[in-house]
Amino acid sequence: MRTFRAPRGTRDLLPGEAARFLRFAEIARGLTDRYGYRPIETPLFEQAAVFERGIGEVTDVVEKELFRIVPRTEDGESWALRPEPTAGIARAYVQHGLRTWPQPVRLTTTGPMFRYDRPQAGRYRQFWQFDVEAIGDAGPAIDAEIIELGLRFYAEVGVKGAEVLLNSIGDPACRPAYLDALVAYYRDHAASLPPTERDRLERNPLRLLDSKDPAMAAINAAAPRIVDHLCQACAEHLAGLRAHLDALGVGYRLEPGLVRGLDYYTRTAIEFYVAGREGQQQALGGGGRYDGLIELLGGQPTPGIGFGLGLDRVALVLDEQAEGDPSGAEADAAGGPPDAPDAVVVSADPADTVGRLRTATELRAAGLRARADLGHRKLGRQLESAGRDGAHFAVILGDELTDGQVQLRDLKAGSQRLVGVADLPRELKRGTSQHRHGTRDSS
Ligand code: AMP
Repeated sequence: MRTFRAPRGTRDLLPGEAARFLRFAEIARGLTDRYGYRPIETPLFEQAAVFERGIGEVTDVVEKELFRIVPRTEDGESWALRPEPTAGIARAYVQHGLRTWPQPVRLTTTGPMFRYDRPQAGRYRQFWQFDVEAIGDAGPAIDAEIIELGLRFYAEVGVKGAEVLLNSIGDPACRPAYLDALVAYYRDHAASLPPTERDRLERNPLRLLDSKDPAMAAINAAAPRIVDHLCQACAEHLAGLRAHLDALGVGYRLEPGLVRGLDYYTRTAIEFYVAGREGQQQALGGGGRYDGLIELLGGQPTPGIGFGLGLDRVALVLDEQAEGDPSGAEADAAGGPPDAPDAVVVSADPADTVGRLRTATELRAAGLRARADLGHRKLGRQLESAGRDGAHFAVILGDELTDGQVQLRDLKAGSQRLVGVADLPRELKRGTSQHRHGTRDSS
């Protein structure tokens, strides 16, 4: 028989891991809500041209990594799965005329992205991003707002030592002269450039600066720096951003080699790292200003800035950091697994599924997390599996039910007592809250 596996570069998030990603998304949601970023959902696929224009044709993401969808119809439309959310959100901003809303429009989304990349540790073909975009404000105060928001997200999910690298990549006024200087510099070193980099020199010279090729490290270190070539407006923007970050007490590191190699990316470029783990494969998140993007997608000239934070990388870093920390930042040692049921309803009569289902239904209606054991196993086996689930209590239906009572078994303490059915919700709420807070029932 043929067996099936998840496609290469993808993975199943089984319940523990899926709950963890949900927790990240909930933290992201709570945080963005406080900051006034409103949720937006765009399709997981778009016309491929949205990405080709919105990310740029001369990028790895579009040239090599775009997941193209082969349509079944012959209408000639070409689609692709989204490799990042910004282009789709910018498309939606233009399509729905969001420029008539109060500006800036602050938006956020969290979901899967797709890149046909070579899979390796921390690099998947389907991965998750938490994304924010602020469209319609040229900054620099808003740039500081989102940088601080990104760092706060890492702090709230429990990543230790996250920091932000910062650069300005100029704008269409000052970048051309800088690019001339850069091209002249690399031409002088043409003999030492690897072939792929020589190709980039002609097509998109800025990209050489963030080359992953080790042969480029020394050449890049001595290359002209864009921060030394900024026009006055861009220099003032960067100084303004730094002043706002300083005022918020947000630390950052200037990184002259950090670039987003496309014309409509302007000024602010940021990347998030855990200190000491800088390197292309290790980025926790990245973003920047894209003052030319909306126009490129058919809208009025509109400034914007955003970031995408990789949640798979957050999970990896949390695992690594937990290894050296036995207190297990994420584990809920006192209360068992965070998604453990408050109660499992079991029965002394293996045939009585109606009673168990009805009792569990009533407990759920009262707001409890209650699972009914709906098998036909003996009571002992039902209790065993309730324990394995990490349930706090077992509600045992037996002969006492005729008097309106059940046995309430505290699976953590191993104790058991009779409780009236009508009192069950109250007793369970009290008991599970005591478990979660590590206190014992003294009654
Ligand atoms: P980028 O748009 O390439 O700057 O990506 C933003 C963030 O998404 C990165 O810093 C990573 O954390 C994450 N990311 C990008 N590509 C992948 C991938 N293939 N697998 C997992 N995470 C990724």
